[in-house]
Amino acid sequence: MLSQQREIVILGGGPSGAAVALGLQKLGYERITLVTEARPFKAMEGISERVVEGLRGAGFQHALKDLPEPGPRFVTWNGESNQANTERLIDRVLFDQSLMMDLAMQGVHVIQGRVKGVKSAEFGHEIQVESCGQPIVLQADFLVEARGRAAPGGQLKRLRGAETVSLLQYWQGSEMERRSAVQSFDRGWAWLASDGLGRRYLQLTFDVASAALPEKNRLVEFCNEQLLRLDQAAPFLSGAEPTGELHARTSTPVLCEEASGPNWIRVGDAAMSVDPLSGNGIFQTLSSSLQAPAVINTLLNKPSQARLAQQFHQLRITELFYRFARIGRDFYAMEQQWPEQPFWQGRSHWPDDQPLHLPADIDQVQVCQRPVVNHGFVQMVDVVTTPDQPLGIWHLSGTPLAPVVTAYRSSRDLPELLSRLAAGGLSEPQQKMVLGWLQQQGARF
Ligand code: FAD
Repeated sequence: MLSQQREIVILGGGPSGAAVALGLQKLGYERITLVTEARPFKAMEGISERVVEGLRGAGFQHALKDLPEPGPRFVTWNGESNQANTERLIDRVLFDQSLMMDLAMQGVHVIQGRVKGVKSAEFGHEIQVESCGQPIVLQADFLVEARGRAAPGGQLKRLRGAETVSLLQYWQGSEMERRSAVQSFDRGWAWLASDGLGRRYLQLTFDVASAALPEKNRLVEFCNEQLLRLDQAAPFLSGAEPTGELHARTSTPVLCEEASGPNWIRVGDAAMSVDPLSGNGIFQTLSSSLQAPAVINTLLNKPSQARLAQQFHQLRITELFYRFARIGRDFYAMEQQWPEQPFWQGRSHWPDDQPLHLPADIDQVQVCQRPVVNHGFVQMVDVVTTPDQPLGIWHLSGTPLAPVVTAYRSSRDLPELLSRLAAGGLSEPQQKMVLGWLQQQGARF
């Protein structure tokens, strides 16, 4: 059977499952089924322009059309307030529906239903689904696990950060502009958003081990006590009333240390989920999902390269996880009003003390072989690694970098280096660009 005709079933229709479905379709896969049910609670989330670019790159059209304009984001952190940034506030139920609309319009088979169980074996998977009250059994040659944080972990090894919970409450009131706000407080931080129609989403994030949260029936009251102390919350509470509903979301950072096998892969939050503080959840989800189709293609078509493809996927999600964990750590460390509080103590040093960016050092710039995505497959090529880019840079704006570093290693004499680059086919603007890059790494001619 042609690999493109193998049955691929994707579990979960958030941004990761949807992006993998479109990516597989672009590679010519015809038999893709995505099973999903709508998320069981309302949520607003903020996305940056990088996410918009990611969605465009993944091939979404409908979801992009429905995105609201960016709104102001107010921040009070370490006692200082600013309004430097903006974010687009999306209603996750509507956003996920738009993603499914994109898939339907592009011919992907979507089943609305709940995955009840999965039996996996070496030669395939059997998936039990309940759709409109009816049981359905699907057979898959390849399984994509994209059910987000709800994906069962089984025996898979995972690395977890400090156990964290976000309590999401809804208030309703008179119309208020679409905006969001962040504020730290002694026991955690708040993210507040208004949808422009009178609904407010008030989210408080706590440390699970130390927060001493009250019983369920007192949680709303407890959250309101915290909110009333926050300056940034005042405009969201003014003229509004709590609706009494509250939803708890686990927001612990989790890295799955085995995120693929010969006939399965985990993507998005099912592979690694980051602290919502970074506001990068959907961005990292798209990043891991855009590489997944090439990993799947390699696993199905080039079994001899299966280990390489799995290593590539694992390396990339691990790198992403640590990058976002360190961004979170540095942001937590900027808050210095309550250094003795467990919430801040536990987060301002995790996952390690390594700086987010390592300084450039031309002596550590090396040419070596690393896996990359090339024409829909994972394969080994010569790349350039630097202290800050250990996974390697293959191309710089389309120009392969390894021959440039090799030429630099052979001669640091500028005219000679330029003539080698010209002999390698680089135009003058390309030569200028790569020389600039070498100088940024500390090269001197
Ligand atoms: P999900 O979006 O979770 O999609 C999984 C899908 O699978 C869902 O539709 C779900 O209903 C479905 N599903 C689950 N189980 C089953 C089942 N058994 N059967 C069928 N379907 C099932 N990210 C941001 O970019 N900005 C933010 O402001 C932001 N705020 C956040 C706040 C909190 C408190 C948390 C916890 C996360 C936040 N995130 C934010 C992160 C963001 O929500 C995730 O990173 C992103 O949604 C992950 O996408 P995904 O496709 O991997 O999973």
